[in-house]
Amino acid sequence: MKPMGTIPADFEITPLRIGGQEAAHWAAMVGDTPLFVYDMAVVQARIQRFRAAFPTIDLHYAIKANPFAPLLAAIAPLVDGLDVASGGELAMALPVKPGARISFAGPGKRDDELEFAIRSGATINLESSGEAARALAIGERHGVTPRLAIRVNPEIELRGSGMRMGGRASPFGIDADRAAAVARHVIDAGADWRGFHIFAGSQALDPRAIIETQAETLALAGRLADAVGVMPPLVNLGGGFGIPYFPGETPLDVQAIGDALAEALGKRALILADTRFAIELGRWLVGEAGVYLTRVVDRKESRGETFLVTDGGMNHQLAASGNLGTVVKRNYPVAIATAAPDAPTETVSVVGPLCTPLDRLADRVTLPVADVGDLVAVFMAGAYGLSASPTAFLGHPLPRELLVGQSEHS
Ligand SMILES: *Cc1c(COP(=O)(O)O)cnc(C)c1O
Repeated sequence: MKPMGTIPADFEITPLRIGGQEAAHWAAMVGDTPLFVYDMAVVQARIQRFRAAFPTIDLHYAIKANPFAPLLAAIAPLVDGLDVASGGELAMALPVKPGARISFAGPGKRDDELEFAIRSGATINLESSGEAARALAIGERHGVTPRLAIRVNPEIELRGSGMRMGGRASPFGIDADRAAAVARHVIDAGADWRGFHIFAGSQALDPRAIIETQAETLALAGRLADAVGVMPPLVNLGGGFGIPYFPGETPLDVQAIGDALAEALGKRALILADTRFAIELGRWLVGEAGVYLTRVVDRKESRGETFLVTDGGMNHQLAASGNLGTVVKRNYPVAIATAAPDAPTETVSVVGPLCTPLDRLADRVTLPVADVGDLVAVFMAGAYGLSASPTAFLGHPLPRELLVGQSEHS
C-alpha cells in the first residue's frame, strides 16, 4: 500500500459531491465519461483568500493553467489581468478582458503573434533584445505604439520550487544585468514601457521561500528602475504559489506571505513609490477546483494485485500519472466517487486505457471496493489537466468539461 495526497477540504466524499450534486449526477448530465468538473465556488474562495491577504496587489490569472472558455469567462471579471503565453491564448482572453489588461509572455513569439498583441493593446513581456527590436519594428510599421514590459531573467531562485526558472541561463527573460539597457532602449524608441515582469519559479509550498523570493524580486525591481531612471508603471512579481498534490504536503499559508510582502513594500525603493504590483497565479487559483471523473471499465487480478481499469487516463490527466515533470511516481488524491460511506476498502491500482505501463492514475492505494461502472475521481485536476495532456495519443474521445457552482453574485 502506498499513500496518496490529501483530498481538498472543499469536497465531501463517499459519495463525492461537487457543487452540491453527486458526481454521478454530473456524469449523467453530460451523458458520458470521462469528464472534468470545475467548481467555480472553489475558485471564488481562492480569489477571496488572495484579496484578503494581498489587498493592494493586482491579481493576474495565467490562463495556460486552464483555458476552458466558461471558466475563463467566470474568472475574468474577478481578476485584474490575464496572462497569456501564445497568440492562441490571446485570442481566448480578448473576448473576456480588454487588451490593456492582458500581458503576453513566453519565448518564441512569432511576428504575427507580436502584431496581434500590439494591435489589441496587450502588453508584451519581452523575452530578448531581438524580440524587442521586432516588436518596435512591427509597431512602427502599423503606426501603433506597442506596450512593452521587460521580462527579467533574475539571479533569484525560488527554493523548493517544482520548476525553477531563475538564476541560470534561460530562454525566458532578459538577463538581469542587461534588462535596464533594453528598457531604456524601448523607452527611447517611443514605446509605452509598462515595467518589469520577474518570475522566479512555480509550485512552491514553503511560504518562507516565497517571502524571500518576493523580497529579492522587489529589491531587484528597485535597482533596475533606478538604472532605467523611470518609474515602472507595473512590476509583476511572479507567482509560484503551489498546491498540495502529494502525501505530506500542506496548503500554502498565503496570509503569512501577504503580511511579509506588505512589510517589504513599506521599505521599497523610492522610484517604486507609485508603481503597481501584480502577482500572477495559475494552479493556486484553479487546480484544487477541478475533479477528473473516469468510469471503471474492467476490474482484474494479476499476480495477486487488483487493477481498476478506467475509460480515461494519462491521455487526459498526464500530470496525475506522474509523467509531467516528476521523477518518482507519487499518488495524487483519488477516490471512488460512487462509494457508499460504509464500503469495505482494498488496495488497488487505478490504470487508464492506454497501451503503456506509464498510464497509471494511482499506484497501490487503499480505496473502497469498486467494480465495473463505478466512478473514480482524481482530484487536483483543475490546472494543467486536459490542456497539458496528450489527448490524441491512442485515439480515445476527448473528455467533457463542465463548470459548476457559479454563484449569482460573483
Ligand atoms: C505558467 C506560468 C505561470 C503560472 O504558473 P502556476 O504554477 O500555474 O501558478 C505564471 N507565470 C508565468 C510566467 C508562467 O509561465
